[in-house]
Amino acid sequence: MSTDRPSVSMAASASRDKDARRLRGRLFVLSAPSGAGKSTLCGLLRARRPDLRYSISYTTRPPRPGEADGVDYFFIDEAGFTQGIAEGRWVEWAQVHGHYYGTAAAFIDAMLNQGHDLLLDIDVQGAAQLEKLYPEAVTIFIMPPSMDILRQRLEKRGTDSAGVIDQRLRNAMKEIAARSRYRHIVVNEKLERAVDELLDILAPGENDPADGAVSAPDLGK
Ligand code: ADP
Ligand code: 5GP
Repeated sequence: MSTDRPSVSMAASASRDKDARRLRGRLFVLSAPSGAGKSTLCGLLRARRPDLRYSISYTTRPPRPGEADGVDYFFIDEAGFTQGIAEGRWVEWAQVHGHYYGTAAAFIDAMLNQGHDLLLDIDVQGAAQLEKLYPEAVTIFIMPPSMDILRQRLEKRGTDSAGVIDQRLRNAMKEIAARSRYRHIVVNEKLERAVDELLDILAPGENDPADGAVSAPDLGK
């Protein structure tokens, strides 16, 4: 009888487990009320962490000036989106501000299985769906410093009509009310400071549940 056979195979299996763990990337989920600066922060984060993969969502919202298909979003029509729902193509999806938004399941699985850290910019409904599927996901909520500043940012961006801005501000109150479900809260007052906080959260080993939660202005009431 050989005594070292079992231990060799156990060692091989342990090594495979380790590889599997190493190969599995980490999932970072970023939510914020519209206008809080999430797109700006994501752009800066991606410049500072070029290894980070980013999931481009599918949406039925029409492109804003300057947005490109396949860069900011994949812009699709409602028939294509609902067909995707029927086919189970979205790992999560939601209706936000009257339009459908969804994340492609195949892309998420491929990136995580290849061991890439992945950043998702999705709303609070989508984040809740993803957390159920990926309990280890690191969820981050971006807060504006105040509701007045949020309105100013939406107006300054100049991409939405007054009616759309009002709708987004009403929705913001609901989203902010859900912030306590997130593992981390980052206030986007000074851009560079917010990016540094996000980089700390994304740093390897810096995302266990007790880490990084910061106090935030109380805008939700
Ligand atoms: P979101 O993606 O959350 O809807 P954006 O990234 O488009 O928001 O930002 C909304 C507006 O606010 C943009 O004009 C952006 O340049 C501006 N902005 C973002 N972060 C800051 C900040 N920390 N200070 C000042 N302006 C900001
Ligand atoms: P916007 O129209 O301003 O680009 O995005 C509106 C909202 O939709 C934002 O809160 C954004 O995070 C969210 N969103 C973008 N992509 C997705 C997605 O794939 N799924 C979900 N659930 N929300 C998304």
